[in-house]
Amino acid sequence: MTILIPVLGDQLTHDLASLRDVIPTDAVVLMMEVEQETTYVRHHKRKIALILSAMRHFAEELRAGGWTVDYIRLDDPDNTGSFTGEVARAVERHGCRSIRIVEPGEWRVKTAIDGWSKRCGVPVDVIADDRFICGILEFQTWAQARGALVMEYFYREMRRKTGLLMTPDGKPEGGKWNLDHENRAPPRRGLNYPEPMHFAPDPITAEVMALVAERFGGHFGRLEHFSLPVTAAQARLALEHFVKTALPDFGTYQDAMVTGQDWLYHSWLSPALNLGLLTPLEVARAAAQAYATGYVPLNAAEGFIRQIIGWREYVRGYYWLEMPGVAGANGLEATRPLPEFYWTGETEMRCVSEALRNTRDNAYAHHIQRLMVLGNFAMLAGVRPQDVADWFLVVFADAFEWVELPNVIGMSQHADGGRLATKPYAGGGAYIDRMSDHCGSCRYRVKQKTGPDACPFNALYRDFLARHEQRFGSNHRMTNMYGTWNRMKPEVRDAYRASAAAFLDTLEPAAPGWAREEQT
Ligand SMILES: Cc1cc2nc3c(=O)[nH]c(=O)nc-3n(C[C@H](O)[C@H](O)[C@H](O)COP(=O)(O)OP(=O)(O)OC[C@H]3O[C@@H](n4cnc5c(N)ncnc54)[C@H](O)[C@@H]3O)c2cc1C
Ligand code: SF4
Repeated sequence: MTILIPVLGDQLTHDLASLRDVIPTDAVVLMMEVEQETTYVRHHKRKIALILSAMRHFAEELRAGGWTVDYIRLDDPDNTGSFTGEVARAVERHGCRSIRIVEPGEWRVKTAIDGWSKRCGVPVDVIADDRFICGILEFQTWAQARGALVMEYFYREMRRKTGLLMTPDGKPEGGKWNLDHENRAPPRRGLNYPEPMHFAPDPITAEVMALVAERFGGHFGRLEHFSLPVTAAQARLALEHFVKTALPDFGTYQDAMVTGQDWLYHSWLSPALNLGLLTPLEVARAAAQAYATGYVPLNAAEGFIRQIIGWREYVRGYYWLEMPGVAGANGLEATRPLPEFYWTGETEMRCVSEALRNTRDNAYAHHIQRLMVLGNFAMLAGVRPQDVADWFLVVFADAFEWVELPNVIGMSQHADGGRLATKPYAGGGAYIDRMSDHCGSCRYRVKQKTGPDACPFNALYRDFLARHEQRFGSNHRMTNMYGTWNRMKPEVRDAYRASAAAFLDTLEPAAPGWAREEQT
């Protein structure tokens, strides 16, 4: 009896639950490159190259391990262009009696899978994705018991569950759960930033890059100098390299931004993690081990592990709890179209142009660039959250909806009515000046509050507070901000608002068609 095991592009894990406990000769693994997935948004060229190359490598590895792999290439003339079409064809081609698949990462794909049994006339067994530390139902149970979704409490549960950085008597290592207060140092002169490990394209990647250049040449971003890990073995080398060279300073400079430094002490492991080349537990354990041997300080190990077993697991739980409604959430009623410069990179704001350069060249920007520069600007300017979400989904190599959407809609745009974060992540130029070296080389003056030469973030920030005073004025975490605002003379407040309006007037809206094909 042949079982069809579709393995999706972000399920590239040898120990995947659907491959476990199956005798390879009883099954056909189906891997599909389909047009619907490569173009439902116009992904960054590097992102498409990464996923297709990693898939093709994985298929080779499965074959070497004794599996029969039916691999549908994008340019296969009979390719129907959709998962459903390809699964139906494969069931017929191989005479399969059942389908077995690990639950997908995204709502869109789940909806498609829900229709497979009817379409193909065979049972479909959807198996929980146990690469995540917290199951979807487990998160829902936690959320129901809590009411408010506080990440910090969730994170503590995950520490207890995994035993990571826990003492034998069940206490957090070092006596504290969270050492974030040690992790906010600005950059200083003389720091050495390690280069992440780069991998030269092999013939499989080179072939994929040629395909991407030909078929998706009009998509955003740079394809040349592709160097991401595309196999589990490469990803493990990248992890080891990160632990050795960058993890010791990861915590301290986690929020820093430096001109020309694209990674600082960040890991750049998110693409490999999100494809399944690495599992969250192995990454977190590597950091815990480096702490146990005294190689890295606790603030580095704890800060890094919190991102993985805390934030990453939390946003995944949140996604499945809040979908599909959260995709259309617009709690701040923002209506401005995305400014054109997000695509062209042409802006005189130095902090923004640096983050956009990194995005275009590497399909990467680190967390603070995403949150406090690119996301912050969009929220202050009142950009429609769905435009922002589309942009983030297109431009980053690690962008899969389950992780991108909560970060954009919930964390960065505060569009979910405060479900994910009790206060918006909003800031003026002073924050960026403190955490970066960008302002010194910017055409705008960060200390100037209003007028054409003033840092736009300053007036936009005040304007944002004023626009949303009804909503946030009584938020106890924003008392200081509103206290300052309300102590200002009316003419000063007016000057801020006029300055913000004048700047917003200069923004060109993005032409349609950058993120999604234009509908005719
Ligand atoms: C607006 C916005 C959009 C984002 N979109 C994505 C996205 O599409 N895909 C994505 O993987 N991450 C996203 N993030 C989270 C985070 O910015 C990236 O995971 C991180 O920058 C990836 O780079 P890194 O591997 O060098 O991370 P590091 O700084 O080295 O962190 C280590 C790991 O922790 C995990 N992590 C850290 N923060 C988060 C978070 N907030 N949510 C989930 N995982 C986290 C990632 O797996 C990351 O690889 C987004 C954040 C914001 C604010
Ligand atoms: S002055 Fe303002 S716009 Fe320029 S880099 Fe600093 S924060 Fe960014």
